[in-house]
Amino acid sequence: MAAHPDDEVLGCGATSARLAAEGHEVHFAILGEGITARHRGQSDAEANQKEQLHKHAHAAATKIGAKSLEIHKLPDNRLDTMPLLDVVKIVEELVGRIRPEVVYTHHGGDLNVDHGVVYRAVLTATRPMAGQPVREIYAFEVPSSTEWAFQRLEPAFRPNVFVDVGRTIETKIAAMECYESEARKFPHPRSPEALRALATRWGSVVGCNAAEAFELVRSVRP
Ligand SMILES: [Zn+2]
Repeated sequence: MAAHPDDEVLGCGATSARLAAEGHEVHFAILGEGITARHRGQSDAEANQKEQLHKHAHAAATKIGAKSLEIHKLPDNRLDTMPLLDVVKIVEELVGRIRPEVVYTHHGGDLNVDHGVVYRAVLTATRPMAGQPVREIYAFEVPSSTEWAFQRLEPAFRPNVFVDVGRTIETKIAAMECYESEARKFPHPRSPEALRALATRWGSVVGCNAAEAFELVRSVRP
């Protein structure tokens, strides 16, 4: 459950590729449309850009082996201006329909406001009442947002779950390359070199060549 196209790849792309390869069903849901509207209404150029971006998202999801990808139409970089309930309703509908057992989503202390809103909406929509399909929630980090909060926004990202992605880190890099418009050059945190370096760093923390790091938000064993 991500706020913007490419967050899903940056946050859990390699883990998703591994889960898909192991036979799990992976579904991506992106709540924001991903293009910041500069004016009221939408210009042709913006509409075109959005179409391209959504094509890239589908190509990336295919590379990862996801079973589905949905992109919703919430406004980019202004989710904090809408009632939280409207975002919660979208997440509730998704959870009711797809019935995921595990949800990966944003970390609540990211610099990007949309990330924080999606985190709150996921927590609200998946309250652990009887019949709730979601048993585990993990927060992922998004390079250039999680670390750019410099641990000055609460809460700080403190990963305690690590997934060995030695076999799928290159699938993540290839999926990011599908997002031509979002590509950045090193030393940007989203560049291929920096993404590999991050995976190497977390891998070294837990004794493997490459890892993605997550924070366990909630786990319920029925
Ligand atoms: Zn984002």
